[in-house]
Amino acid sequence: MSDTDADTTTDADALRTPIVAVLGHVDHGKTTLLDRIRGSAVQEGEAGAITQHIGATAVPLETVSEMAGALVDPDDFDLPGLLFIDTPGHHSFSTLRARGGALADIAVLVVDVNDGFQPQTEEAIDILRRTGTPFVVAANKVDTTPGWNPQEGEPIQRSLEAQSDRAESRLNENLYELIGDLSDEGFSADFYWRVQDFQGNIGIVPLSAMTGEGVPDLLTVLMGLSQRFLKSEMSIDVAGPGRGTVLEVKEERGFGATLDAVLYDGVIRTGDTIVVGGQYDPIVTEVRALLQPRPNAEMRTEKRFEKVPEVAAAAGVKIAAPDLDEAMAGAPVRVVRDQTEEEVVAEVREELAEIEVETAEDGVVVKADTLGSLEAMANALEEAEIPILRAEVGDIAPRDVAVAETANEETHRVILGFNVDVLANAEEELETSDVRLFADDVIYQLVEEYEEYVDDLQRSQQ
Ligand code: GDP
Repeated sequence: MSDTDADTTTDADALRTPIVAVLGHVDHGKTTLLDRIRGSAVQEGEAGAITQHIGATAVPLETVSEMAGALVDPDDFDLPGLLFIDTPGHHSFSTLRARGGALADIAVLVVDVNDGFQPQTEEAIDILRRTGTPFVVAANKVDTTPGWNPQEGEPIQRSLEAQSDRAESRLNENLYELIGDLSDEGFSADFYWRVQDFQGNIGIVPLSAMTGEGVPDLLTVLMGLSQRFLKSEMSIDVAGPGRGTVLEVKEERGFGATLDAVLYDGVIRTGDTIVVGGQYDPIVTEVRALLQPRPNAEMRTEKRFEKVPEVAAAAGVKIAAPDLDEAMAGAPVRVVRDQTEEEVVAEVREELAEIEVETAEDGVVVKADTLGSLEAMANALEEAEIPILRAEVGDIAPRDVAVAETANEETHRVILGFNVDVLANAEEELETSDVRLFADDVIYQLVEEYEEYVDDLQRSQQ
């Protein structure tokens, strides 16, 4: 690939869209918020004001600006917009890594303003802290709080300021409680319109994902934070080798196993040789097709996708290529260009090796759907001082039952399955063995269920 003579002084061309993840406790409104961002962008803007990608939604700067009105002047920004990862939750956040950190550049922590901090809010904060990801707090569901009474058409912050004079405002109380909770976690926080420079302060944006009030404010803050903190990291070599993270491995009729991936650097083209993290070894294959959702396509029609010759970061894309059956969600995908295939394979192997789980002579068997979730499980178990005999990505297979049976202690003859299915033949094995299965899609609940089981067992033996 020859170098282009691109004018390097106009590096704005090479700034990519920041990748945004939405995290928070279950039922606090993550999905509704993402739907609202998609929905209102469609209403406000012209056709094409947002672009639906595989696994992500792109909101261009112009659309943010249209939604935010006077709050966002496009001339003040040179980042192209925001790319929201469609799968909410810190589970997907922590499993989606890139370059040893998080795939997302910035996050929205959704907190139900009436419910306050909950276990998964704290888990999310731990993850954000660990990965050094800047975030904004969306204080959601303000529409249900007594005392919330905005004037139609009035910017949300003015309504709130007016109401904050009223000592009895429940909303105000709740918001101050959030500031207190964040401060307990070591963050100073403030309502975003009082935050002068985003420096050292976490902005809290009161909003309703349901009615849409405050959503433009949230987009404004995200744009502002990105512009201030992420600009230098967003500069990419637009023609460089594509680098991305696998969101999901999916069977697709006519294509076999495909990858849904988010590209965070460079460009990927049809015909490129790629290296993908696999369950056993890195997979080397050739891109047969790159697919994007066809605009307005019916979900059930055959032609849901259209082929595109190339995709540049940041973007979500479906990659069709041979031999992807053993690719892993959460693993890196890299285009071979500028480097030899061996070098790229070595890099992918190295990246995968970072995710190592410490195992013991005796312990439980852990299965999880992605590498990152396996790592998150391993961290949670370590914290709870539960030893691990074996930890692997994938559905629960008869082999796992056999391994669990070899555990010495009864409390260890257990399989903990996170976000995985039980294969039919493993189901039979489980019935005839004394191995217990615990399966859940919330890590702390899974650990709690197991701890309760151990407690009960020990009590019954006393
Ligand atoms: P998630 O589990 O965090 O993705 O939460 P959901 O988006 O599924 O929301 C959980 C519930 O809260 C649903 O019944 C939503 O309709 C409701 N909900 C979400 N946001 C709001 C809001 O701003 N106001 C109100 N009144 N309800 C909301």
